[in-house]
Amino acid sequence: MSIWYFSEEEKMLAESVQSYAQAHLAPKIEHLDEIEGFNAEAFKKLGEMGLLGITVPEEFGGAGMGAVAATIAMEEMASVDAASTLSYLAHSILCVNQLGSSASKEQKLKYLPKLISGEHIGGMGMSEPGSGSDALGMLTRAEKQSDGNYKINGSKSWITNGPNGDIFYCYAKTGPNKKDVSSFIIEKGMPGFTTGKKFKKMGMRASPTGELWFSDVMVPAANRVGEEGSSVKSMMKNLDIERITISGISLGIARSCIEIATKYSQERKQFNKPIGAFQQIQERLAEATSWYEACRALTYQAAKTWDLGLMTGREASMMAAKAKLQSAQMATQVSLDAIQILGGYGYTREFAVERHMRDAKLIEIGAGTNEILRIIIARQLLGSDVVDTQ
Ligand SMILES: Cc1cc2nc3c(=O)[nH]c(=O)nc-3n(C[C@H](O)[C@H](O)[C@H](O)COP(=O)(O)OP(=O)(O)OC[C@H]3O[C@@H](n4cnc5c(N)ncnc54)[C@H](O)[C@@H]3O)c2cc1C
Repeated sequence: MSIWYFSEEEKMLAESVQSYAQAHLAPKIEHLDEIEGFNAEAFKKLGEMGLLGITVPEEFGGAGMGAVAATIAMEEMASVDAASTLSYLAHSILCVNQLGSSASKEQKLKYLPKLISGEHIGGMGMSEPGSGSDALGMLTRAEKQSDGNYKINGSKSWITNGPNGDIFYCYAKTGPNKKDVSSFIIEKGMPGFTTGKKFKKMGMRASPTGELWFSDVMVPAANRVGEEGSSVKSMMKNLDIERITISGISLGIARSCIEIATKYSQERKQFNKPIGAFQQIQERLAEATSWYEACRALTYQAAKTWDLGLMTGREASMMAAKAKLQSAQMATQVSLDAIQILGGYGYTREFAVERHMRDAKLIEIGAGTNEILRIIIARQLLGSDVVDTQ
């Protein structure tokens, strides 16, 4: 069911992404989840569909749509395959949206065409082995050279599309202070830049996650995005749209779980009755569908607010944090409830609910843990003199 203010274009987008997911993701996800593979073919198809630059203005080859559209795409895709959706998010929001919003015209003209066509896969490097939640504690350094270019040393960890990506939007320190953060466009193949190990994961197994290593990587000044030392604001802003759109992944997972559990409750008989006749099963389903709808309303409200520019700064961050905090917890709980409803079958890989539960848990960690999101929300309510992470 679509949200009342979805435009005709957005409704059509939902239908076409659902058809795409059924045709290109559904047949492969079980196998790819098993072997921790990546659906490269389906990724390329998204380029043909014009979805890889979903939020980029049309003048740069994008679809010129916004956070609502991107969240719709995430929800529909994730109802089938959340892992491929996570790789799509890292590409289209973490890398491409950030280039579309922050890069110069020359940088956009150089990098966006291949990212939008699907020839190149993008990712974003912020987190490091020693700094996840404390993102500004990053140690990767970019030293300005006498010729104006930069030498980068350090490493990034848990990078979605790290092992298979071509272009990375990376953050590094360019000064002694916590906020001296600059952005750089890093290309696979730059001397000294390597991708480290690919992590073995509990869920999101068809989305490759890995390390990025920088050993005296010489990066031209032309690859610095924005002014030196001025990236904190744009980094945080892109985290906000990431949190809104990743909530779409939680919604898609939950929706699929509710559909599977509802059908199962109608068909599975115990004590000569469909298990849906038992009040405890009804209660779980009623709670699940209500929480899902509440999170859906909150998430699309956050997305619409973003698109209309109704909130900025910390207020916008709080809105995005609320949507993700609730949607992520909801999807984990709904997937666990679906497993419970399916009993022994729910615990096996016969049904998608087991994969959905493993995938859902990631969203309580990536793009800001539940704990960090609660801090963002509480800080906005109480003021940063009361709530501080330092
Ligand atoms: C599959 C996957 C994909 C990812 N993709 C990317 C990516 O593409 N790019 C990228 O840059 N990063 C990515 N990440 C990294 C992700 O954003 C971090 O894992 C996340 O921010 C948490 O950081 P951490 O793992 O270092 O945990 P930590 O920060 O070490 O946190 C450990 C625990 O302590 C809690 N904690 C920390 N600080 C506080 C505090 N002040 N108050 C209360 N509790 C606190 C946390 O909530 C958590 O429960 C990805 C992670 C995963 C698992």
